[in-house]
This record gives sequence, C-alpha cells and structure tokens, in this order.
Amino acid sequence: ATAAPTMSPPLFKVNSPNVEYTDSHIQSKYTYTNTIVSKKADGSLVAEPVEQVYQFKTERTVPRVGLMMVGWGGNNGTTLTASILAHKRNITWRTKSGVQTPNYFGSLTQASTVRLGVSAEGEDVYVPLSQMLPMVNPTDLVIGGWDISGLSIGDAMERAQVLEYDLQRQVRDELATLKPLPSIYYPDFIAANQSDRADNLLPGNDKRQHCDKIRKDIRDFKIANNLDKVVVVWTANTERYADLIPGVNDTPENFLAAVASSHDEVAPSSIFALACIEEGVPFINGSPQNTFVPGLLALAERERAFIGGDDFKSGQTKFKSAIVDFLVNAGIKPVAITSYNHLGNNDGKNLSSHKQFRSKEISKSTVVDDMVAANHLLYKKDEHPDHTVVIKYVPSVGDSKRALDEYECDIFMAGRQSISIYNICEDSFLASPLIIDLVVMAELMTRIEYKTGDMTKYSRFQSVLSILSYMLKAPLVTPGTPVVNALGRQRSAIENIFRACVGLAPNNEMGLEHKIW
Ligand code: NAD
Repeated sequence: ATAAPTMSPPLFKVNSPNVEYTDSHIQSKYTYTNTIVSKKADGSLVAEPVEQVYQFKTERTVPRVGLMMVGWGGNNGTTLTASILAHKRNITWRTKSGVQTPNYFGSLTQASTVRLGVSAEGEDVYVPLSQMLPMVNPTDLVIGGWDISGLSIGDAMERAQVLEYDLQRQVRDELATLKPLPSIYYPDFIAANQSDRADNLLPGNDKRQHCDKIRKDIRDFKIANNLDKVVVVWTANTERYADLIPGVNDTPENFLAAVASSHDEVAPSSIFALACIEEGVPFINGSPQNTFVPGLLALAERERAFIGGDDFKSGQTKFKSAIVDFLVNAGIKPVAITSYNHLGNNDGKNLSSHKQFRSKEISKSTVVDDMVAANHLLYKKDEHPDHTVVIKYVPSVGDSKRALDEYECDIFMAGRQSISIYNICEDSFLASPLIIDLVVMAELMTRIEYKTGDMTKYSRFQSVLSILSYMLKAPLVTPGTPVVNALGRQRSAIENIFRACVGLAPNNEMGLEHKIW
C-alpha cells in the first residue's frame, strides 16, 4: 500500500524575524560565530571572534522513502526489518517477563530528546530530536535489498537467532514473502568461510555490468514501491581492505576505468557505492573496509552525491568515544586501552579471518586520536595511549557479544587507576537503531540547502556526510577536514545544525538565567 507523502504540523514553531515557514520550506537566517586563533611571533595566541551569516532552507514535505540494505539477510538486516514490521502491525509478544511492545530505544532520532529552551518559569523544555525538523518516520520505511544468501527474510531472521521466538512466530510468514535480490560476490573480499551461504549471485565477472544491474535494481525498487527517495546501507560482511594502487583507484577516471576493466582490486562494496553515486542515491557504509577508495570519494564529490561511513559505532567503540572524552577532559591520562571482544554470530565468523579482522582493527584503532591530541598537558605531540583490540569467534554466544575493556590511567601524583568494563549485548539490537538514524538523517540532508552572502544559489552540504559521525566508528570526512570521534561533540553538531535550520542559537550549558541575581 502506498501512502501519500506527509507534512504533519510541526510540534513547535520558532517565533523570530529570522525564520519563515512557507508551505514548502522552513527558511532561517543564522549567524554562525566562530573563533579564529593565530600565533604571534613571540608564541602568544590571539583569539578573534568572527561571524558569518547563513541562510538555511529545509523542505517540509517528508517523502516516501525506501531503505535498501546490502546484506539484507544478515543479523542486522533481518532484525531491523522484523522490528519495523512489528511497529507497522502493532505486534506485541510475550517473554518470561511479560508482554512486550515495539520500541526504538537506541535510536538517537527516535528515542532521544533535545533541550529546546526554558519556560517562563525557568524549567527546561525538551522535544524529541525527531521533531526538530520534518523527518521520516522509520515505521514508514519500505525495506528491500540484496544478499548473497538466497534465504527469504523470514528464514534468515530465524537463522539470525536474535529476536524472541514469540515475535519471530508472528512476523515470519510475512517476512517469508520477502526475498533478497542477487548480489555481487567476489570471494577474495570476504572470508572463505562465507562461501557456503553464497547461493544468490549475479552471474559473470563484468564489474561494469554488475554496477549497472544494481542501478537498475534501485530504479525498479523505487518504481515498484512508488518511492520518492531511496537510501542504501551496506550492512553486509566486512570485506578486506582494497589495495590502493596508483592508476587504479586514486582518481575518478582511474577508478571508472578499473571498473570498466573489472580490475581485481575493485570490491563489491565499491561497486554498490558507485551505483548509488551514479543514481544520486545516498550510500552509507556500515562496515569497516575502505569502500571509499580515494578515486571513488573524489567521484562522489564531483557528482555531488551523498556518502557516509565507515562502520556502525554500536557498542565498545561508542563507549570508548564517550569515556575517553570524559577522562581526558577531566585531566586524567589514559595510558593503555585494551579491548577484547568475543562473539558467535556470522559477523564474528567472518572476522575470524585475518584480512577481514584487520579492517575492523584499523577502524577501531583511531577512535581516541582527536581526544588525545586535544590535551597537550597530558600528552606530548604524537604521544598515544597503548591501544589493543582483540576479536575472537566463540559460536556458542551467538549474537550476544561480550566486550571487555580495560582503561589504565595515570592520575594525581603518579597514582594509577584501572577501569574495567564488561559489556554484554545482542549486537544486532545495538546496530539496527543506528541504521534507522543513518537513513533518517541522510534523507533529511537531501532536503537541506544553505547559502552564504557571496553565493547566488542555494547549495547542498558537502558530499561526505560527516554529520553522521555519531553513528560511525571511523567517520569518513572530506579529505583535509578534521575527524571528530568524541561522542559528545558529535551529538552537539547534530543538535546545533538542526537548531540552526530553524534559526535557533546553539545549545549551551551556561544557564545564566539560574546563576545571576
Ligand atoms: P551478518 O553476517 O549476519 O550479515 C551480513 C550479511 O551480508 C549476510 O547475510 C551475508 O550473506 C551478506 N553478504 C556478504 N557479502 C555480501 C555481498 N557482497 N552482497 C550482499 N550481501 C552480502 O552480519 P551482521 O551482524 O548483520 O553485521 C553486518 C555488518 O555490520 C558486518 O560487516 C559488521 O562488521 C558490521 N557491523 C556490525 C555491528 C553490530 O553491532 N552488529 C557494528 C559495527 C559494524
């Protein structure tokens, strides 16, 4: 069934001469303040406040959106699909704790709030993040995708062993009617132990033809479901890194030529990303491999297509990017971060192969760099804490991943502090809500444009959607721009960019109204 695009009335309207609500858009005039710091010859610093006026324009009509997942038949893909179906059908299920109802816990957009302001009585007023701007309701997403395993989504959900039986029982028949599209399989890129499930494959080895077929799949899905927009998310297995070879994947032309000649170093994920760039569909990479080789990233920028990545930031790394930020900002010096994981799902099986593990290790390794570099009182230039990541495959724990982290810190007067964390969680319950946020926010970014004084026309944001960094372990950024891993800073960026789009100043924690006479 197809629903018309919706434009529900906003939960709040901003009453300001800088904000205008038309039938089609929210337009805001926003003064962005920044501080430019320069160094004088004597080494002292000069800080200069600067201002730039931006105009933002956000389309109000929420389109009808499709989510196509690569790796749809995996644990994340099936858990998300079944969960959204449970929301659509208002399904309840029983566990030993009683009757359960669907929720979107763990989703920043769906289950977190933003402090809009204070009431006249001085009380904080919070609104759902999803209400800051018109955003897609995940329950309305139309879901499809590809998998190298041909099991129906119903059977694949059972294979995943994530959801409770009483819920599986109620969604299985409907999900059994959904079949993943055949996908691209270049066996060298994922672990050899995945070959026994690879039975739903695009024929041949012609990489250009594969790309064109994926493009057609996207167009067909859009037409068949009467969609306005599609977002594609890679939640398929972690691939090995592609070798970066001059003349092959360093420039857009070379990359396109490498695809045309079906070069060995072009990965399936890069073919999917290329198909999306060529179709003008946002593509987000939820796994750690280097899908966006330099030539492909440059191509996305040339085509002004939206891309995001890499690697869902679900458990251990999310915690790390919060706790290290806290420690370093508290003046405490982590000197060693030691992380063990064991898990027993198919992701763990794939990661038990060295080259695929190496992709994950790289993605997990740079996560504290910006926080460490931010405090030169604790760390000398180029000094880093020891940082080790171990992942082991233990089939019997299934999707219930165990993460053990030790943070060893130098504290006051040569004292030592050891903090140990032990986290047990169904991995797919952490990753699925992130997929929702990535889709909801990527789609929203296709409806926001900006203009500064010297621009004649409105423009989209840059191709690389670094605003998605909160959900991603190794955030992809435009070359030459800084990577921010600190979770608090990532959240502030989201909140304050959304506020700017409705003409509100960034949230600050000054609370002056409560501190002055
Ligand atoms: P999974 O193994 O259950 O699912 C992956 C699916 O991808 C499988 O069904 C497999 O058949 C399919 N697949 C492999 N290659 C494919 C291709 N070329 N085209 C289409 N389908 C293909 O794994 P999962 O637990 O769902 O995780 C998916 C990915 O997300 C993994 O790479 C994992 O590292 C990454 N990830 C997961 C989490 C988490 O918390 N679950 C966090 C960060 C990253």
